[in-house]
Amino acid sequence: SERFKIEGGEQQITVACRIRPLTEEEILDGSSLIGHKIADDNMIVLMDPMEDPDDILRANRSREKQFVFDMVFDAKSSQQDVFEKTTKALLPGVLNGYNATVFAYGATGAGKTYTMLGTEQEPGIMFRTLHELFIEISKTSEDLMYQVSMSYLEIYNELIRDLLRPSNGFLELREDAKGGVQVAGISELVAETPEEVMYMLHKGNKERTQEPTKANKTSSRSHAVLQVNIKQRDKVRAQSQEIRMGKLYMIDLAGSERAAQTQNTGKRMVEGAHINRSLLALGNCINALSEKGSSKYVNYRDSKLTRILKDSLGGNSKTVMIAHISPASIHFEESRNTLVYADRAK
Ligand code: ADP
Ligand code: MG
Repeated sequence: SERFKIEGGEQQITVACRIRPLTEEEILDGSSLIGHKIADDNMIVLMDPMEDPDDILRANRSREKQFVFDMVFDAKSSQQDVFEKTTKALLPGVLNGYNATVFAYGATGAGKTYTMLGTEQEPGIMFRTLHELFIEISKTSEDLMYQVSMSYLEIYNELIRDLLRPSNGFLELREDAKGGVQVAGISELVAETPEEVMYMLHKGNKERTQEPTKANKTSSRSHAVLQVNIKQRDKVRAQSQEIRMGKLYMIDLAGSERAAQTQNTGKRMVEGAHINRSLLALGNCINALSEKGSSKYVNYRDSKLTRILKDSLGGNSKTVMIAHISPASIHFEESRNTLVYADRAK
C-alpha cells in the first residue's frame, strides 16, 4: 500500500487538490473507495482502504509519500467552497487590471469539467466567478465603468478553435506590438448577466472535441480556455483616461492520462503526444515560475497553451491549479501521476 498525505501550506502559486465522490458507475463496477480523511485542513489519502486513517494521523510513517498543497477538497466540499477558496480572492486584482489563471488538472473522469463548468444545478467556477464579478461591478462607485467580455476556445492537437463560433475554423496566434499573444479572429462576447454566460459556456462546451478512447467512454482531448476580459475606465476624468484591463483565464485542461495507458495507436497516440506537450510545457512554466528568488528562464514558446498564457502566468499574475483525483482504487496510477505533477507546481 502507498499513502499520500496532503497538507496545507503557503505558496505564491496556489495549488489545490480535489477528490470527487465515487460515481454511480464506479460503485456498480465494485470499485473500492480510497480512504481519506480531512483533519485540521490536512487531507490524508490512503491508497489502501483497509487502513485506518487515524493510524496514519498518529504515526509518522516512513513509507508514506507526502504531497503538500495549499488546500484540499473532498466529496463533501461544495462547488461554492471550491470557488471561494480558490478563485474568489483573484477577483479584486482582476478588477484592478491584473491577470490571473485558474487551471483544472487531472485525468479524464477526475472531475475537471465538474469543477470548472459544473452542472445547471451545481454551476462551477466559471459561472460563480462571472456572478461574483457582476456583483462586485454593481457595487463600485459611479465614477468607474467596467466592461466584461469573454472568449472561449479549445486547443486540440495544437490547433485552436473558437468554441463560441466553431465555423471560424482554425485560428492562429499573433504576437502584438507589446509582445503579447493574441488569437487572431477570436470572437469576443460582451456579457451582461452570468446566466447569459452560462448558456454560452454550455453551448460552447458541446462543441469541444470529445472522442471515445479505450480509457474512458468519452475523454476530453482538448484544453478548453475561457478568457474573461475586464476593462475599467474612469468616467470622471478625461475621455483619454487610460483603460485598465485585467484578464482572467479559467481552463479545463485535457485529460492528463498518458497515451500509453489508453493502449491506443495511430491517431490517438499523436493526440496523446500533443496533450503531453501542452501539459508538459505548462508544468515546466509553472515549475520555473515557482522557483523562488531565481531568475530561471520561463519558456512559454513550447506550446499553444503556454503562448496564450504568456502574460497571465508569472509576473504580477496569480495562478491557481486545482489537481483532481478520483477516489476509486482502480485509478491509483492516474491519481499518483496527478499528485506528482501538481507537486512540481509549488
Ligand atoms: P473530467 O472533466 O475530469 O473528465 P468530469 O468533470 O466529467 O471529469 O467528472 C466525471 C463524472 O464525475 C461526471 O459525471 C461528474 O458529474 C462527476 N463528478 C465529478 N466531480 C464531482 C463532484 N465533486 N461531485 C459530484 N459529482 C462529480
Ligand atoms: Mg471534462
